[in-house]
Amino acid sequence: MDRVEQRLMRYAKVYSESDYYGQSGTPSAQREFDMAHLLVSELHALGIDNAFCDAHCYVYATLPATPGCEHLPAIGLIAHLDTTPDMTGNHVKPQIIHYEGGDIVLNQAENIVMEAAMFPELQKFVGQDLVCTDGTTLLGADDKAGIAIIMQAVEELLAEQAPHGKLCIGFTPDEEIGRGASNFDVAGFGADFAYTLDGGDITDYEYETFNAAMAEVQVSGFSIHPGTAKDKMKNALLMAMEFNALLPALETPGHTEGYEGFFHLQELHGKVESARMVYIIRDHSMERFLQRKATVSKAAKQMNRRYGEGTVALRVQDQYYNMYEVLKDHMEIVALAEAAMKAAGIAHPTHSPIRGGTDGCMLTYQGLLCPNLPSAGHNAHGRFEYAPVESLRTGVKTVRHLVSPALVESIVLKKEG
Ligand SMILES: [Zn+2]
Repeated sequence: MDRVEQRLMRYAKVYSESDYYGQSGTPSAQREFDMAHLLVSELHALGIDNAFCDAHCYVYATLPATPGCEHLPAIGLIAHLDTTPDMTGNHVKPQIIHYEGGDIVLNQAENIVMEAAMFPELQKFVGQDLVCTDGTTLLGADDKAGIAIIMQAVEELLAEQAPHGKLCIGFTPDEEIGRGASNFDVAGFGADFAYTLDGGDITDYEYETFNAAMAEVQVSGFSIHPGTAKDKMKNALLMAMEFNALLPALETPGHTEGYEGFFHLQELHGKVESARMVYIIRDHSMERFLQRKATVSKAAKQMNRRYGEGTVALRVQDQYYNMYEVLKDHMEIVALAEAAMKAAGIAHPTHSPIRGGTDGCMLTYQGLLCPNLPSAGHNAHGRFEYAPVESLRTGVKTVRHLVSPALVESIVLKKEG
């Protein structure tokens, strides 16, 4: 049988970076199929003949319920097979380093060192083996650690003929560029609820995300020679700055944390004649989210009162919503995750609000409730990414408990019954 860290290293070597500027739809990059096809062939080798990859590069597989477990809910397990374009994922050379404390030399020749002072959480892993990079690429534990954990758990369940309800496995492309859920076949997947394994530290899980909207602000000015502009010129650039000044200055990403929401100006360009700004609006609370959108509308109205109707045109579009708004009525799904983590040996599982969205939050609003479980990766999206082997193994145990009939019956069915 494989070991979970061997799986992670095998998957890490497959170049499956998604591409912001690639093909439209999914996959954004043809190379993501390499990872998808590898997973399908491994699932076939495990005896799961129904595993397949569709035209959009989604991998699906189903393990039917074992005899006597047909009454259990169908549980989905989801991870993404692309890696972020923010750091190269080509020619990944994973290595296992036994961590004795202090700095970690990832690459002697190029003098690439992971400093303990910069990453104090390394302290937790003294005496453990870490899957690391050679410092020249990312590792791709985000989210190949999630895939490795799911695959390992499936292999073990089958090898031991362990009982379980129906399990639905899904591996998705293009999560890192925000399209992971866009072509997901929720109906075909067939799960009653699911979990993404796309978190970080193995003790932390997540079921709260932002509510999210994008606001595009188009400012129309009037350009004329500055020498003869008196009482005529309307400078769109100055009006754009004035619009921004109507928003709370300290409610930006750089000044907020935890459950604090924000307005984030992420684009501003223009000339005297016209200017365009793009904001993203984020808040965990639906009530405050609506207030934030109202604040932006008020600012636009105020500008139009000052400078004439039509000076500022505002278009606000919702992007996604906090999965907790739906999950709060189904907290047994969250309770099952926490109980599985505890059964896997995590004494105090913690949960923190995600300051962003996940594929799971899109899926939740498509009808597939989907909190996020940890995948054991640290320092995602960079050369210092690593995954502790012990944490990976705890992840496998967590999934094994998550699907164990005793736990599912006592937590999920009890609530339904
Ligand atoms: Zn991820």
